[in-house]
Amino acid sequence: MTTPAITSSATELSAQVARWRELGQTIAFVPTMGALHEGHKKLVTEAAAHADRVVVSIYVNPLQFGQGEDFEQYPRDLASDAGFLEEAGVDVIFAPLEADIYPEGKERAPAIDAGEIGALFEGVERAGHFGGMLTVVKRLLDIVHPHVLVMGQKDAQQLFLVTQMVKRELLPVTLLPVETVRDRDGVALSSRNAYLSPPDRTRARVICRALAAAAQARDLESARAEARDTLGGQESVEIDYLETVDPATFLPIEGAGYRGEARMIVAVTIGETRLIDNTRLTFGQ
Ligand code: AMP
Repeated sequence: MTTPAITSSATELSAQVARWRELGQTIAFVPTMGALHEGHKKLVTEAAAHADRVVVSIYVNPLQFGQGEDFEQYPRDLASDAGFLEEAGVDVIFAPLEADIYPEGKERAPAIDAGEIGALFEGVERAGHFGGMLTVVKRLLDIVHPHVLVMGQKDAQQLFLVTQMVKRELLPVTLLPVETVRDRDGVALSSRNAYLSPPDRTRARVICRALAAAAQARDLESARAEARDTLGGQESVEIDYLETVDPATFLPIEGAGYRGEARMIVAVTIGETRLIDNTRLTFGQ
């Protein structure tokens, strides 16, 4: 295990990766926005288990934040993030400036369309969010040129859209999804949990309770009802959306008699903070 090197230079990083590739080594890449927690660390552990070298990027991408969102406020502390990754098996932390990612300006970046699914769920309230996310992921992949791209299931819609982009654009990378890491009380780890007041942090437990109740249900209809009732029973928690989607298409599942695998996705606002979570549901014959 080593202390990770830190670079902001895309040229330097690309050259380093090219040298590793010449030696026949494989590279796994974990893109993040920093404010790292144990969820990110799990991604790094998986990355290290699947490749010889691990690159983590820390970049708060302006293109995926809308007007009035928390771009300015988003926690940034590179020294603390670097300390957190000490001995985690990371070779390089890539912490670029905007000019390294968007050399011709972010307005001129070759935009990637997130399509129909990009306009649903998270994309309803956050117009342009997924296009901005795909644009930065594509740019980062061009710079890092990894064999493996490691991403969290926590952001299920993001993961779906990146999977679609990789397939559509025939990107030479294998996507490795990692299960959501939760706190001891079940709350999914998120950099945005830091915004929650202590009472709101306690209220946030209702999200995983709702998902767990849905996972116990015998059919789709009762799964939806269980989740909605559980969330509705907690004061100060507002449901933005609660949906069950087909994992193959990410479109809402119609019809109560559905059999097979589904994903329940949820977004709630607690106080001023918007939180998302999801779980896998399976309905047998
Ligand atoms: P972020 O820094 O929040 O943009 O997230 C960077 C990566 O970490 C994304 O692939 C997320 O899905 C993943 N991630 C965030 N929270 C968790 C978590 N609790 N468990 C697993 N992965 C996570």
